[in-house]
Amino acid sequence: MTTEVLFYTQIASLVTFVLVVFGVYRLLVQQKDASIELLKQRLEDQSERIRLLELQTPDALASSLSERVEIQLAEIERLRLDSNLNRTEIDGKESELREVQSKLASLLSTIRDSDFLCPHCGAPLSQRSSYDIHGYVDGRDVEATVEHLEYECGLAINHEGEVSPCRRVSGDAPVPMQPSNSLESTR
Ligand SMILES: [Zn+2]
Repeated sequence: MTTEVLFYTQIASLVTFVLVVFGVYRLLVQQKDASIELLKQRLEDQSERIRLLELQTPDALASSLSERVEIQLAEIERLRLDSNLNRTEIDGKESELREVQSKLASLLSTIRDSDFLCPHCGAPLSQRSSYDIHGYVDGRDVEATVEHLEYECGLAINHEGEVSPCRRVSGDAPVPMQPSNSLESTR
């Protein structure tokens, strides 16, 4: 074997090696892209599910928001331990978050007082619809729009009052979610 042949053999094996490395690299990048895509998809699915859940129960929305605030506060506490960070900025962020937290607390109590939840058991509103009613008052034709509210516990309310009872509280097995709303409640 001449020196020249040896030289070209080495070049060839080097080129092969580089090609193999490049191939492996591309394979890895593709796999990484695929797993990133998969993770992104999963994240989107989760976000969608969270969105749907929040739409279903305003109470859950407020709770999940409070949870997020709690997480942020914990993160701030962790960052505070890092002396390299600007403490004034962190303090500002923290007071902002505390403000959001107190707003959420009042939002939560507003939701509980509103018609989003059954006044007897706290079940979420499942359907809200409005329709027009006609009638005669003093010989005149009057038209009015009334609301019909339905809750997951079976309670239905319209302009005539409770047209279908709350099954959780007035049924055989009462399961009151909010003990403050007693059965004797005059609503
Ligand atoms: Zn109910």
